[in-house]
Amino acid sequence: MSHSHPSFSPSAPVFISPCDTYSAEILTDAIRRSFDSLGIKREDFTNKKVVIKPNLVMKKGCEGAATTHPAVLSALLSVLDEYDCQSVVIAESGGGPYTENALHGFYSVCGIEDAIRGHKAVLNYDVSSGTLYAPDGLACKQFESIRPIMDADVIINLCKLKSHSLTRMSAAIKNTFGTIPGLTKFEYHARFSDYTEFNRMLVDLSEMLHRHAFMIDLCDAVIGMEGNGPTGGIPRRIGAILVSRNPFNLDTVASAILSCEHEVPMVAEAASRGYCPKDSADVPVLGYDWQSLIIRDFAAPDSAVTSKNPLYWLPKIAGGAVYRWFSPRPMIRTKTCIGCGECERSCPVHTIRIKRDKNGKKKAYIIPNDCIRCFCCQELCPIHSIDIKKNPVLYLLSRMRK
Ligand code: SF4
Ligand code: SF4
Repeated sequence: MSHSHPSFSPSAPVFISPCDTYSAEILTDAIRRSFDSLGIKREDFTNKKVVIKPNLVMKKGCEGAATTHPAVLSALLSVLDEYDCQSVVIAESGGGPYTENALHGFYSVCGIEDAIRGHKAVLNYDVSSGTLYAPDGLACKQFESIRPIMDADVIINLCKLKSHSLTRMSAAIKNTFGTIPGLTKFEYHARFSDYTEFNRMLVDLSEMLHRHAFMIDLCDAVIGMEGNGPTGGIPRRIGAILVSRNPFNLDTVASAILSCEHEVPMVAEAASRGYCPKDSADVPVLGYDWQSLIIRDFAAPDSAVTSKNPLYWLPKIAGGAVYRWFSPRPMIRTKTCIGCGECERSCPVHTIRIKRDKNGKKKAYIIPNDCIRCFCCQELCPIHSIDIKKNPVLYLLSRMRK
């Protein structure tokens, strides 16, 4: 397999199609038109091993808007059926362990099994992994990667547009984190516990994957998630499909649509490297007049420390310890916690314990001093029993400004 693909072009446009519903006909047409307009040709797929990497962060039905909608996958497969791909594999490492059993659960609950029926595609059950190298990485120069991604000639990054408690927003860049197998993801959280370094690592990963294979980023923004994404937020209609060969351009436009432009650190990091313009207005966009998609009141996650906040700069200037004191933290709602242990297993720094309360019921407890604010626990709690608590001073001041 060749590894000589050019990474991506900073001037690669984003194609936006209006899409109000998950209608198969509209979605297939949108994807076909996007590919045509972006110069993606059938020869790009001929005899190629194609891997589609959806967002399956949690075993949840598509109505929750946490995962890529199966109708988008199905529409993409209809387009790929017309090409002469050597193989088409659906591969993703969602939250938690990366085992055959877990994969089966994700595929079935997230509607992926049904979506591939009748198409020339298979589901990945190979849980082996290997190493991919990122020579241009600034925070990380090698990544553990799931096997299908290692072997891919073409990768279609089939992401979902959502707010995100850790990274502020999840679209193309963040979705590549699911190419790292299972619990190894938690090691990356621990290793890049510094927030800036974590975002730099994500940009390294996206850049590397675009060098490794011919990569297309395709974002399901028909219905996204606002509030406490990536799993605990509320579905919100956005009404579009975004496609690009540059994930950083796609995310820049996506952040503008969600009204959080310049507040997404991984996008700012990409812009500082010259991978995309600083402003969405400078991103080449084709297709729909995307400005009409902007949602001014798109709810931010509770963890968001935005530039509108009066203390946004102070903690950064004053240093890490002060910043940590001010930054939002996870808080377990012990009344509703069922003691399942999912958060304990997902905590990269092992700062959650399951103990019995005075009634003998198992409950989760966080040892706050060691918490690195990665919000993996909040992301993976199956019953959303973990809140993000803002610093009271910060909260009060932000309210006063409204
Ligand atoms: S994952 Fe949620 S329900 Fe399970 S122990 Fe942790 S807080 Fe409780
Ligand atoms: S307690 Fe939650 S937010 Fe804190 S380090 Fe553990 S998983 Fe991350």
